Amino acid sequence: MADPASSRRRPWRPRRLLVTSAAREHAHGRAIVARAEALDIPITELSGNQVRLPPQPDPRRAYAEAKATLAVVTAPPSRLKLQPIAPSADWRVDLAEGCPAHCAYCYLAGSLSGPPITRVYANLDEITAVLPDYLGQGRITSRSRARAHEGTTFEASCYTDPLAIEPLTGSLSALIRWFGRWDADVQLRFTSKFADVSALLDLPHGGRTRMRSSINPPAWHRFEAGTDPVEARLAALAAMGRAGYRVGLTIAPIIAAEGWRDAYRDLIAMAARALDGIDGLDLTVELITHRFTPGSRAVLASWYPGSDLEMDPERRAEKRTKFAGTKFVYPPELMTELKTFFLAEIAEQLPHARILYWT
Ligand code: SF4
Repeated sequence: MADPASSRRRPWRPRRLLVTSAAREHAHGRAIVARAEALDIPITELSGNQVRLPPQPDPRRAYAEAKATLAVVTAPPSRLKLQPIAPSADWRVDLAEGCPAHCAYCYLAGSLSGPPITRVYANLDEITAVLPDYLGQGRITSRSRARAHEGTTFEASCYTDPLAIEPLTGSLSALIRWFGRWDADVQLRFTSKFADVSALLDLPHGGRTRMRSSINPPAWHRFEAGTDPVEARLAALAAMGRAGYRVGLTIAPIIAAEGWRDAYRDLIAMAARALDGIDGLDLTVELITHRFTPGSRAVLASWYPGSDLEMDPERRAEKRTKFAGTKFVYPPELMTELKTFFLAEIAEQLPHARILYWT
């Protein structure tokens, strides 16, 4: 198993940092700017609160420039009204939106609009201030007979990968500390395709945070450019488990590319080896098959025109989304085959893991 410190990527360094005037009002925003300054990242103090980059006639260049930009902004009021996030958690809590990686299937392509600038929220104190209002109000995991014991759950990785940006933002560490102090029946959840957990290991987390590693077979890494190698992610997860955190595997998205059975069997074996022998390990598994919408497919095709990730509506089953849109999932026979395979492999190789959901 790889040492997470030796095989992971270097921390992300944006090419530029933009900070809005409202974000400069918050100590957390100023701390992010100070970290960027110490790293000699060019900083632009915006006079207002609009984040824009100079127009680029070449869409490839526009994409690259946006992905290389971190903006420090304030979460709009809509973000302070939490939404349920099935099937993961009772509530979604957003620290940022956007991500510096380049996954060919990125779910953000369908949910965020505009150039893919990563925007981190400076008003963390306002975000945490609303959380107590939601205690005991959950309608997703709190109403599940199998999961109600997790307490009111809050998911922090819906619109970003919070670990990818942690070295600059410090937002995830601050939220873990905040949940550590919150003496209530609650759980903070986040998932990541990154491996630098060095800032998290010694935090007073109070057992109220579950980190999941989002994993796929090493041969699928071609679909996950800019993320850490899966060996490093698993080693990081094991380190978190040894530090007393609750942990989990998000096997996502499950991609039925050629050779998927052997690739995923080996992946589950890698996870079992990485997590073997950790005292008191609380391990869950979440299983999410690959899907796309017409909108996300169009955006991803423009961002990653060379990708060989299959996104052919003709080979998929069409389903309605909860917002009355269309999504394309694997056809029912293949879904059954995949589900049967994963449940059997996990039961055999990770017998102590609790499967939270299949979708
Ligand atoms: S790590 Fe997650 S959020 Fe980031 S590009 Fe990949 S899928 Fe998107």
